[in-house]
Amino acid sequence: APQAWARGLTKVYGSGETAVTALDGIDVDFASGRFTAIMGPSGSGKSTLMHCMAGLDRVTSGRAVVDGHEIGRMNQRNLTKLRRTHLGFIFQSFNLIPTLTAEENITLPLDIARRPVDRAWFDEVVETVGLRDRLRHRPDELSGGQQQRVACARALVSKPAVIFADEPTGNLDSHSATEVLSFLRRSVEQLGQTVVMVTHDPRAASYAHRVLFLADGRLAADLREPTHDAIL
Ligand code: ADP
Ligand code: ADP
Repeated sequence: APQAWARGLTKVYGSGETAVTALDGIDVDFASGRFTAIMGPSGSGKSTLMHCMAGLDRVTSGRAVVDGHEIGRMNQRNLTKLRRTHLGFIFQSFNLIPTLTAEENITLPLDIARRPVDRAWFDEVVETVGLRDRLRHRPDELSGGQQQRVACARALVSKPAVIFADEPTGNLDSHSATEVLSFLRRSVEQLGQTVVMVTHDPRAASYAHRVLFLADGRLAADLREPTHDAIL
């Protein structure tokens, strides 16, 4: 079974005359070991789809299932727990703690959950991210690209079923963006992660194995192994 999937996923904001249908019956599978980009014009439902799949937003109807858990129907307490243990998040703003070293930032989610750090896995992640000689540095001693790679490592280290990335390269110059995206693709392939990334940048999306296009809350296109030209 895919790591995450949706059937008839529908999200309506508000009610009555002011109701907005942000998602209109989405069917989609996110397989493990795959890096998927979600594109589409502003207001097409990209963030809503990601938020519903990540349990950050309630679904109105239909199903959103992550790692076998019916995320659309969980209570708040179980959702918080599931997010901590099964999901990883990478944001546009790196959200690193400035007073902690790169290593401390990477292990923070595990420390908060009082879970042990699997050192072999930690080493593999740090190696893949290319941060071995930066672990003792604090965020302000790292470049933007390196800070976002710390955030990627932090998302990976608890071995989440799915990692959600929201415009992860939105604050990066093109060199750093390339570095982060090629890392994400490599880690998906080497470590078998499932990554779902929302972006409006075709260059960023060209690093994904697959690109979904949304339009008015529906799936408008589904490209496998997209070429740069196909996305543009
Ligand atoms: P995208 O991420 O593609 O820009 P969104 O998922 O943010 O699109 O929005 C999809 C639609 O849902 C838009 O029409 C937007 O105005 C609406 N929407 C999003 N969030 C809310 C909200 N909290 N309340 C009301 N409408 C919302
Ligand atoms: P990257 O290619 O990783 O984005 P840059 O080209 O921006 O990095 O920076 C090159 C080198 O300069 C990196 O090895 C990085 O450690 C260092 N560096 C970048 N920004 C800073 C900073 N604000 N403070 C200290 N060192 C930095």
